[in-house]
Amino acid sequence: MQCLTLKKGVECAFMTRKGCNFNGGRCHAVVESCEGCTKTLNSDEGIFCLVVPHPAKKWTTGACNFATHLKAAVVEEAQKLNPLKASKRAAGAKMK
Ligand code: SF4
Repeated sequence: MQCLTLKKGVECAFMTRKGCNFNGGRCHAVVESCEGCTKTLNSDEGIFCLVVPHPAKKWTTGACNFATHLKAAVVEEAQKLNPLKASKRAAGAKMK
C-alpha cells in the first residue's frame, strides 16, 4: 500500500488501512552513511530512505546492501574476501 504519512505515494509494506504499522508509526531519517545514496527522499520532515524504514539498522552489521553509492566497493570487497573458494581452488590445484 502507498504511504500516506512521511513518504507520500511510495509503496510500503508497513502501510495499512489503519495507518503506518512500523515501530512508532513513522520511518526514521537516514544516517550519515547514507549520504550519496540515490534511494533517499527529501520531505518536509527530513530525508528518508525509499527502501527501508530504519536506515541506521542497515548499517549496524556492515554496509547497507541497498546502497547505490557503495556498490562498486562492496563487490570488490566480496571478491577479495572469499577464503572458502580460495581454499577449494588451492585444494583442486594440488590434486591435479
Ligand atoms: S538504501 Fe541503504 S544507504 Fe541508501 S538511503 Fe536506504 S539505508 Fe541508506
